[in-house]
Amino acid sequence: MSNYQDFEDRHIGPSASDESEMLGVLGYSDIKKFIADVVPENIHIEKQLKDVLDGAKSEVEVIAELREIASQNEVFTSLIGGGYYGTITPPVIKRNVLENPAWYTAYTPYQPEISQGRLEALFAFQTVICDMTALALSNASMLDEGTAAAEAMTLARRSSRASDDAVFLIEEHVHPQTKAVVATRAKPLGITVVEVDSGHVARDGYDGEFFGLLLQYPDTTGEVCDYAKVTEFAHSKGALVIAATDLLALTLLKAPGEWGADIAVGSAQRFGIPMGFGGPHAGFMAVRTGLERSLPGRLVGQSVDAHGNPAFRLALQTREQHIRRDKATSNICTAQVLLANMSAFYAMWHGPKGLQQIATRIHGFASRLQKASSSRNGIVFDTVTVDVKNADVIHAAAKAKRINFGRVSDTEVRISFDETTTEKTFADVLEILGLSDAAATPIAVSVLRSSKYLQHPVFNTYFSETSMLRYLRTLADRDLALDRTMIPLGSCTMKLNATTEMEAVTWPEFASLHPFAPVEQTRGSRLLIDQLSKWLVEITGYDAVSLQPNAGSQGEFAGLLAIRNYHDSRGDQARNICLIPSSAHGTNAASAVMAGMKVVVIECDEAGNVSVDDLKAKIAEHGSALAALMVTYPSTHGVFESAISEICGLVHDAGGQVYVDGANLNALVGTAQPGKFGADVSHLNLHKTFCIPHGGGGPGVGPVISKAHLAPFLPNHPMDALAGPATGPGPISAAPFGSASILPISWAYIRLMGGEGLTHATEVAILNANYMAHRLKDAYPILYTGNKGLVAHECILDVREITKVSGVTVDDIAKRLMDFGFHAPTMSFPVAGTLMIEPTESEDVLEMNRFIDAMIAIRGEIQEIIDGKIAVEESALRHAPHTIGAIAGTNWERSYPRERGAFPATLTGLIPGELIGAKGKYWPTTGRIDGAYGDRNLVCSCPPIEAFA
Ligand SMILES: *Cc1c(COP(=O)(O)O)cnc(C)c1O
Repeated sequence: MSNYQDFEDRHIGPSASDESEMLGVLGYSDIKKFIADVVPENIHIEKQLKDVLDGAKSEVEVIAELREIASQNEVFTSLIGGGYYGTITPPVIKRNVLENPAWYTAYTPYQPEISQGRLEALFAFQTVICDMTALALSNASMLDEGTAAAEAMTLARRSSRASDDAVFLIEEHVHPQTKAVVATRAKPLGITVVEVDSGHVARDGYDGEFFGLLLQYPDTTGEVCDYAKVTEFAHSKGALVIAATDLLALTLLKAPGEWGADIAVGSAQRFGIPMGFGGPHAGFMAVRTGLERSLPGRLVGQSVDAHGNPAFRLALQTREQHIRRDKATSNICTAQVLLANMSAFYAMWHGPKGLQQIATRIHGFASRLQKASSSRNGIVFDTVTVDVKNADVIHAAAKAKRINFGRVSDTEVRISFDETTTEKTFADVLEILGLSDAAATPIAVSVLRSSKYLQHPVFNTYFSETSMLRYLRTLADRDLALDRTMIPLGSCTMKLNATTEMEAVTWPEFASLHPFAPVEQTRGSRLLIDQLSKWLVEITGYDAVSLQPNAGSQGEFAGLLAIRNYHDSRGDQARNICLIPSSAHGTNAASAVMAGMKVVVIECDEAGNVSVDDLKAKIAEHGSALAALMVTYPSTHGVFESAISEICGLVHDAGGQVYVDGANLNALVGTAQPGKFGADVSHLNLHKTFCIPHGGGGPGVGPVISKAHLAPFLPNHPMDALAGPATGPGPISAAPFGSASILPISWAYIRLMGGEGLTHATEVAILNANYMAHRLKDAYPILYTGNKGLVAHECILDVREITKVSGVTVDDIAKRLMDFGFHAPTMSFPVAGTLMIEPTESEDVLEMNRFIDAMIAIRGEIQEIIDGKIAVEESALRHAPHTIGAIAGTNWERSYPRERGAFPATLTGLIPGELIGAKGKYWPTTGRIDGAYGDRNLVCSCPPIEAFA
């Protein structure tokens, strides 16, 4: 090590001598020469990052600097409401989930046998949503309430038989940020949104065709309306009714499913997730029976494993964008799994009775204020709109007591109570308003909930901290996350999420800010956002960035929208064709459709590169209709295509714009800059390249970043003038700065590494990938290589020939890796029948060798099948993974010894101790899961209590 305080050496796995050794294996003596051979010369970075970014800081220095920034935020008691509320994260959940790498470093549960813990938690989340909304089916989280409402609109559009001219109705008292997100989504799809007063519609109907109606329940002013009549009217017109709702309110109020709503959406934020200046939180969506096949996002279902035991897995449209692409129901990939899990645990921690107590207490405050202020609100839950003489005077008086009220107009303020509200706060509120206390009134019977919820034992068992602690530990133990093993998922960049980077996330100065708090209280967060934005611009060679999109998919949509609006602004409205290579990530095509574009696929040649001939042909064919080319760079095939500049030039010459999917930026930081080699706009994945942990499938941050000419078209926000250009398309996410509370992670990473360290990380990421490709290529052919036979930061192992001669599939290999305690590489993306490996710079040589040895041992087992020593159906590969139950069972009727099932390497004679011994054996908790069974017998929430009787 160069210096014991250098973070760079902690982040990068291989030591300097490991690096030389790996270079030696590849026939190089110098890493710069090696990189020069990988990255095409015509795109080499001009200005080294070490000359544009500050030098590395130590972990102690970075924490001190973050403390200083945090101190520029002022945490008031925010009674602003509007979709964001104070909540108490139970400490047992905060420390053992939010701050626990076993939970936050896991990946999306595509490999269910090693993901049963978080799948069980997500199943519980779905059950919470179904129970509270009284609807049949919920998914395992949306990105936020605004986008959930927008997705509900498109679901209603797809499901309705109304004509293309039918409009979408939105109640005027829906939260303003939700209205704005819906408007942003509706425009490129050609959907007209009409604002209505639901009371009028209930009385007088609505002249004209509409396919959906969005209501807020309780509404943004605090009013709890009885929507039964307007719902009946909407149904009589063939329209779907969407309720944007509040889980805590539903503990007391009649559920949307009970008054006829077809879809419910909302945010689970107040179930234990800090406001975090806007996010991340789990959005949700539930639908009635009949709409399940149209539900966007991920759905956890119950199935059975090879031993007939129940087991969880992702159901139906698991990787729907990958399979359905431009026919997908939405572009959501990364969702909000970590937060969804936390909200489910919050529901378990309090149980139905505890939740009802919390809600009742909140309602008590609201009801007392309503009476005391003679508010015009009829029925309230937690929020009261109060008429005042001069709102500014009231806000100033509130400020003096370090309290924020919601801003409504010059003569009204909005006050929302929450779990954290105390009698002292309530007394302050009365004093500020010059009111005296009044008695609470119970909720009117017309909207009162009488049905039960959360009756399942999982919500009625873990009330002591001991039992909750053990439950959380039990679940975590079932999962393989980065804290146990490398997760070599290509395209996912599962690198270190350093502890120092994570520290600030739970500091109250960042965690407890309301997204609509006055600017002067949020200076620290805004400074951090400005600095991070500036650094990302320097790193990528672009000019402007928005951190608002809260996943890569949302950044894609924002970027394509910028292209579309740019064309429109120049009178080029006819440009609507988006060219996308066949190898693209499925979200690309889905995002293009959302932006109102038509997808045309470009073929790849046999070397895996975009076919320049096909590109030329398609450009010629579509001519003046060409809007954009959307490519990933380096390509999803794991190679740097040297033709990229030429490709960008061809598109520009034809009047199109170039979108570079920046998910693979881990190969570019410090080596090349999309903003300089010809691209116009990209999204980045801060949850890949910039160390935000994957959280088991979210949260994420997907900034959209562009050249100056597209900057006027980047996202903005109606409630925060500083969140984007006035000329922007409106918000992409509900909160002005998206998932703001996790931005300190990426900020800290860049600060800790400095320009030189970031560049070195990229070099080692590429070196590691090439080392693995080199060591594995004799066992498994490498599908694509670039210049000089080298790959970028990931490589694809071609298993198709092996499958042909042995019958062993990529699935078999993935499941067998579990017996070794490894997570599988990315399967069958971007090419069916292949495995894509991305080690990242954080994996050291020992761990990579362990994985390589496991893969070689598996190849040995495959050879036995090829040689006719054992049939594939009889093999350990096909029976993998092996549970302890299977191995310890009385009967063993397999064609291979028990030991070999559980301890594969010991019997293949390959470095026995190293592979498993030193780390201890990981036991998958379920045998191989039957996916088809689960899709045929869809079970996506805990059965009602009667099922146990
Ligand atoms: C991960 C990824 C995306 C999508 O990002 P999300 O944050 O999951 O929405 C898009 N393109 C590529 C190439 C990716 O690897």
